[in-house]
Amino acid sequence: MARPATAVIKLSAIKQNYLYAKSLATPAKAIATIKANAYGHGAIQVANELSDVADAFAVACIEEAKELRDAGIEQPILLLEGFFTADELTYISEYNLWCVVHSQYQIDAIKQSNVQKPINVWLKMDTGMHRLGFLPKQYANAWQQLEKVAQVNSLTHMTHFSSADDLSSLRTQQQTELFLETVGDLPGDISIANSSAVLSKAMPDRVQWVRPGIMLYGSSPIDTPEMAKSLAPAMTFKAKVISERIIEAGECVGYNALWEADKPSKIGTVSIGYADGYPRHAGTGTPVLVNGQKSQLLGRVAMDMIMIDLSMFEDQDCIGYEVEFWGDNIPVNEIAQCADTIGYTLLCGISRRVNKQYVK
Ligand SMILES: *Cc1c(COP(=O)(O)O)cnc(C)c1O
Repeated sequence: MARPATAVIKLSAIKQNYLYAKSLATPAKAIATIKANAYGHGAIQVANELSDVADAFAVACIEEAKELRDAGIEQPILLLEGFFTADELTYISEYNLWCVVHSQYQIDAIKQSNVQKPINVWLKMDTGMHRLGFLPKQYANAWQQLEKVAQVNSLTHMTHFSSADDLSSLRTQQQTELFLETVGDLPGDISIANSSAVLSKAMPDRVQWVRPGIMLYGSSPIDTPEMAKSLAPAMTFKAKVISERIIEAGECVGYNALWEADKPSKIGTVSIGYADGYPRHAGTGTPVLVNGQKSQLLGRVAMDMIMIDLSMFEDQDCIGYEVEFWGDNIPVNEIAQCADTIGYTLLCGISRRVNKQYVK
């Protein structure tokens, strides 16, 4: 037996969500974003599952791309931050990685490189997020510098939205207009749209490539019931009750004694903590599902354990009862709200110690 802290990952749900993203974006092609170990789900397993349907994959950096190539993944892989040092260009060329270029130092490095095969560049425009990319007034110049060098095979235009998850914001439309206007009639494919923009169909006809991430894992960044319903949660995060007791009225539970019983209370200890990726900011009242019944967290989350309410099982021996934290029955976004964060951080935060179980 092992410590019962498990993330059950339903690969078929990820495929279903990917195909759904593709159907929303059609005729554009969809790059499955599997950076950060596929948002905690396991990049190699997810890439293998999608290998017969995915048009391409996206990761943050060469370390993540290398892991996929070493595992035999043959699709194009886009490096969303491009390269950091010039020596990465050899590998990028050799392994046919698509490479974001967002800064002049990268252009200079490409010009000075002697790559064997010319590389495919995704030139990034900063249309208002002000994180990466060339400002619109610098963009044509960046494009022209790359267009004429032998080290470059193709150029794709891309930008990233700051506020696509906020349907009341005008920014997505403003960014799109600025982007299309600046690209003008420069040749090349264009790419915009994270999950939020795919889900809200904020895509002009001219788009060839969308880049959904979080939605593939079944969490909608636009938290409406309809959006949530259209996606299948891929990860169920769970553990078991490993200890139980009845405490008297007036007694307290956990670090800093944050929860106090107002009557004799049955409580249980569960083998999960913040070192597994359960959020420490979740407090008393955060929902859990124990043996199929709704219950709640009591007191402070510790590194390896939490305590929960077992009052609904007064006469039962609860040792070994399964406790779900999010997944099939509890939306990860609901727990994120309880912990003052977003679904992304919870999924990405599943730690190495958690046993991953893959199911079709
Ligand atoms: C992470 C990322 C995405 C995917 O975003 P989601 O919100 O997870 O869909 C798309 N494009 C870029 C540039 C990214 O960094």
